[in-house]
Amino acid sequence: DDEDVHPSVSPQGSVLDSWGNKKWGDTASYVAKKKLQSWFQTSDGNWELAKILSITGSESLISFSEGKVSKVNSDSLLPANPEILDGVDDLMQLSYLNEPSVLYNLQYRYDRDMIYSKAGPVLVAINPFKKIPLYGSDYIEAYKSKSIDSPHVYAIADTAIREMIRGFLNVSLLYGESGAGKTETAKIAMQYLAALGGGSGIEYEILKTNPILEAFGNAKTSRNNNSSRFGKLIEIHFSETGKISGAKIQTFLLEKSRVVQCTEGERSYHSFYQLCAGAPPSLREKLKLKSANEYKYLQQSTCYSINGVDDAEEFRVVVEALDAVHVSKENQENAFAMLAAVLWLGNVTFSIVDNENHVEPVIDEALLNVAQLIGCEADDLKLALSTRKMKVNNDIIVQKLTLAQATDTRDALAKSIYSCLFDWLVEQINKSLAVGKRRTGRSISILDIYGFESFDVNSFEQFCINYANERLQQHFNRHLFKLEQEEYIQDGIDWAKVEFEDNQDCLNLFEKKPLGLLTLLDEESTFPNGTDMTFATKLKQHLKTNSCFRGERGKAFTVYHYAGEVMYDTSGFLEKNRDFLHLDSIQLLSSCTCELPQAFASNLLSLSEKAVLGPLHKSGGADSQKLSVVTKFKGQLFQLMQRLESTTPHFIRCIKPNNSQSPGIYHQGLVLQQLRCCGVLEVVRISRSGFPTRMSHQKFARRYGFLLLEHVAIQDPLSVSVAILHQFDILPEMYQIGYTKLFFRTGQIGKLEDTRNRTL
Ligand code: ADP
Ligand code: MG
Repeated sequence: DDEDVHPSVSPQGSVLDSWGNKKWGDTASYVAKKKLQSWFQTSDGNWELAKILSITGSESLISFSEGKVSKVNSDSLLPANPEILDGVDDLMQLSYLNEPSVLYNLQYRYDRDMIYSKAGPVLVAINPFKKIPLYGSDYIEAYKSKSIDSPHVYAIADTAIREMIRGFLNVSLLYGESGAGKTETAKIAMQYLAALGGGSGIEYEILKTNPILEAFGNAKTSRNNNSSRFGKLIEIHFSETGKISGAKIQTFLLEKSRVVQCTEGERSYHSFYQLCAGAPPSLREKLKLKSANEYKYLQQSTCYSINGVDDAEEFRVVVEALDAVHVSKENQENAFAMLAAVLWLGNVTFSIVDNENHVEPVIDEALLNVAQLIGCEADDLKLALSTRKMKVNNDIIVQKLTLAQATDTRDALAKSIYSCLFDWLVEQINKSLAVGKRRTGRSISILDIYGFESFDVNSFEQFCINYANERLQQHFNRHLFKLEQEEYIQDGIDWAKVEFEDNQDCLNLFEKKPLGLLTLLDEESTFPNGTDMTFATKLKQHLKTNSCFRGERGKAFTVYHYAGEVMYDTSGFLEKNRDFLHLDSIQLLSSCTCELPQAFASNLLSLSEKAVLGPLHKSGGADSQKLSVVTKFKGQLFQLMQRLESTTPHFIRCIKPNNSQSPGIYHQGLVLQQLRCCGVLEVVRISRSGFPTRMSHQKFARRYGFLLLEHVAIQDPLSVSVAILHQFDILPEMYQIGYTKLFFRTGQIGKLEDTRNRTL
C-alpha cells in the first residue's frame, strides 16, 4: 500500500521541493490520512495550525483548534511537525522544514526565553529586548564544563577557544539588521572570552572599550536606541597558556554625516549629549559648555534624551573606561574639547559682506569659542571658513565663498574633527591593548558590522553598507557550501551538486572595472563638473543591461541585492564620496596650538600623500587629493575578506522579533523576512537537499542494531548498518554509505526512531 508509506520514503523520492521535503501534493493525502497537523496561512499572512478532515480534488476540509472548520485550497497548506519536535534546538531536526514550521519553532523557544537556536552550523539569536537569566558566571562555568549544551553565544565562544588552542585562527561573525542584537551579542561573547582567558588584567581593559566606542560611535536611530554607526573588528590575542595577551580594534566607515545632520526623532552621537549632561562644573567652564538643546547641530531633532538612559551617568562610565585604557586626564580633556569645538562650530553663522553674495562668519561667542577650543586665532578661523586658496596657472588666488560654500566648509571641518577624534580614540585604545612582541598567532576575532539596510530613502551610507553585506554574504554562502561539499568528498560519497544562490553577479555590478558602480562613482567624483545627476545618468547609460541593476526616474537607481531590491537616491553621493576637506581647513588645524588638531592635520595630510594623484598640496595651495571613501572602504573590505579566508568562521545571525524594541512581541512576517534575506533558511535548505542526517557506522549500529530481526553473530558496524537499512526497506536513493558515516536524506531516521521508541 503505497499511500501508507511515509512520503519521504516513497519510491518517487527524488521529487523533493526546494526545502528537501516531498512535494506537498503527495504528502497532503498522507497527512490527511494520518490526521496530522498542517499549516494554513490566514489572510493576514500568519500561519495557523489546522487538522485536515478530508480531501476532495484540490480542496481540503480543515479544522482549527478552536473548532472552526473551513474548506481551503490544498495548495495553501503545508505540513506541520509532530508535537514531539516542538522547540527543537536545531532547525535541522525538523521533519518538515518549511517557513511556518521554522517560524513556529523559533517562536516556541522565544516564548520560553530560549532565544538561541541552531540552524545547522549557524547560531540564531532572537533579541529578547529584556534581561534574560542566561548569562553570568554560573552559565559561563556550565558551558565551560560542558554541562549544558543548548545553543548559546557562550557555546560558540567556547568552541572558538578550543579551536584557537588547537592552533586555528577564529572569527565570529555577527550578522543582522540594525537593532537585531549584534553589538550586545558581541559583548556577551567578549565576556565569555574574558572570563576564560582572564588573569592578566587586560581583559578588563578590553571590556572597557565598549562604552568608549559606543559613546563616540553609537547613536539613537529610529530602529535602535543604541545603534552602532560604524563597523568593528576586534581581534583578541591569547598566550600559549590560553590567557588574553592583548587586543586590536579595527573600525570601518563611521557615519560622518550624522555629526552635522540628524533626522527628527533620532540623535547625533551619544558623546555630545553625555558631555553636555555629565561634564563637571570646571570642565563646563573650560569648554564653555551649554546644554545640548542650545547647539544647532543637535537642535535638528527635538530628541535629546533616551528613555531609561541617564547621559550624565553614562559620561562618568565613559571617563572611567578612558581611565582604564590609559588615556591621560589631559588627553581626555583634549578629546572633550574637540567635541565642544564641533558643537560650537555648528553655531557659527555667516553674514553677507559684498554685493556678490560672499559671506564671512559672524564674530560671536560661537566663533570665538571654536578658536579657543582648537587653539587658533579667531581671524585665521574666520578666513578658513570664508575663503579658499586656488591655484590658477601657477598663481595662488584667494576665492571668497558664498553662504552655501561656507556652510559646507564649516560642516566638513566639523565632520573631519569628529571622525579624526574617533580614529584617534581607537588608536589610543589600541596602544593600551597592544599585543606584546611575543605574538603567538592565537586569536579570536569578532566582527560586528552593520547589517543590510533598506529604508524609504537610501543614500550613500546604505550603498556602502549593502555592498559590504554582499561581500559578507558571499563569504557566508561559499563557506557553508564548501563545508558541506568537503564533508561529502571526505567520506567518499557521490554527491550531485546542490544548487545554491551565489551573489557574484551583484558583486560584479559593484566591482567590475571600468564599468561598475564603484568605479563610475569614483570617476564622477573626480570630474569638476560631475553632479549627482550626471552620475545617475552615467549609471543608467552604462549599466542598463545589467540584470542586477535598474535605472529609475531622476537621480535614482535600484540594485537587486541578495536580500531584496533597494532603490538608492544619488543625492549627496559625490560629496560624501569625495569627503572633501579643503586644504585651507587642514592648514588651519595644523597651525593650531592644541595637540589634537595638529595630530588630526598630520593624519589628514598623510592620507593625502598616499593618494594616487600625488602630493598636490606640496605645490602650494591647491586642494589636497585623497582616496575616495568607497575606494578606501573597498580596500578595507578586501583586507577583511582575505583575513576571513584563512580563519575558521562561526556565524551568528541576530534577529529582531519586532520593530518597537519591545519584549514578548514576535512578528512572524518580520522574522521571516530576516530569515529569508540573511540566508538562514537557505543554509538549512542546502544542507537538507543533500543528505543532512549523518551518523557514524558505529553509532547507527549501536542505536538500531537491537531492532534486527535476525540476530546474526557479532559483526562489524558497517555490516550491521547495512542489515538495518535492508530490514527497514530504506530506499537506495535515500541514503549513501560513506567511509565513516551513513548519510541520509531528510525524514529517514524518523521511521527507525519510531520503531525504536515503540520497542524500548
Ligand atoms: P545591533 O548592534 O544589531 O544594531 P544591539 O546589539 O545594539 O543591536 O541591540 C539593540 C538592543 O536590543 C540593545 O540595546 C538591548 O536593549 C537589546 N538586546 C539585544 N540583545 C540582547 C540580549 N541578549 N539581552 C537583552 N537585551 C538585548
Ligand atoms: Mg550595533
